[in-house]
Amino acid sequence: MSEPLESDASLLVVVLDINTSAWSTSPLPLDKALQQIIIFINGYLALKPENKLVVLASNKRECRCLYPVDHTSATPDQDIQVYEQFRVVDASILAGVKNMIINTEPPNANQGIEEAQSLIARALSKALCHIHRVTESTLSKIWPRILVLSAAEDSPREYIALMNSIFAAQKMSVLIDICKIIGRDSVFLQQAAEISGGNYLKVDTARGESLLQTLLFTCLADHYTREILYFPGNEQIDFRATCFCHKKVVDIGFVCSVCLSIFCRPAPVCSTCQTKFSIKLVKTESALSSSSALTSNGKQMLAASEMSAFSLEDEKTATAGK
Ligand SMILES: [Zn+2]
Ligand SMILES: [Zn+2]
Repeated sequence: MSEPLESDASLLVVVLDINTSAWSTSPLPLDKALQQIIIFINGYLALKPENKLVVLASNKRECRCLYPVDHTSATPDQDIQVYEQFRVVDASILAGVKNMIINTEPPNANQGIEEAQSLIARALSKALCHIHRVTESTLSKIWPRILVLSAAEDSPREYIALMNSIFAAQKMSVLIDICKIIGRDSVFLQQAAEISGGNYLKVDTARGESLLQTLLFTCLADHYTREILYFPGNEQIDFRATCFCHKKVVDIGFVCSVCLSIFCRPAPVCSTCQTKFSIKLVKTESALSSSSALTSNGKQMLAASEMSAFSLEDEKTATAGK
């Protein structure tokens, strides 16, 4: 892959998480946050006339593209004081967000997704599709990146889809920046930023940290500028995986040697690819786990699980999860 040049244009896909349950707990209201995000987007467009923009919004139930939109559907008010492109972008984003919040769909549309979780995996897949289309149709070199403005909690059900999107982004050389505005750190999105080479930023608005300042200082830099800048690093990233069986974050996992599915306990048959494992080995593991569980010694139980994880690995050349 060629090196980025100063004259190269960028393609930015902004993923807005507008989960209303998450935003209702935020010290920074959604409308104020949107104002700051729009200033950042206008700043990005003003940097280079060739810069391209896509804005997606996601909540618990759906993921929509807010910009670019069909011009016939959006009829923003005429305001000659504002630069035409800014006016169209601003009006499309505000109208789209308003529409999504007003539109209430049946609550059981997405089973398994909790009220305070959003469809981020779906938004990332859509973002990658947009990036593929734009990069294929643009003659000159364009450098793509994604910025996720995350508000909701991680959705363990989305883990597999999310990891697939992250690895697809890595393969396409798409940076994923994460700006966590509300709540606890996101384990999945930290991994997304780390794997794709982007930044993971947490903005604590309750402690007076400014969202706009963070966005302008860190997320505005293009691929060329990033090579000469120092970014705030992430020393502590939680790389734990989620088991495919119960969708729970696990400390020690068992990995199928055929399809790399992760499980929290060893099973005779992989539920993903139906591969059969050595029954003797699985039995040994169960016996070990139950005997050490009886001693109620946490350390011993951990060691037993670790030992069997390795013996499984030896037998089936599997790799034990983190
Ligand atoms: Zn499990
Ligand atoms: Zn498998």
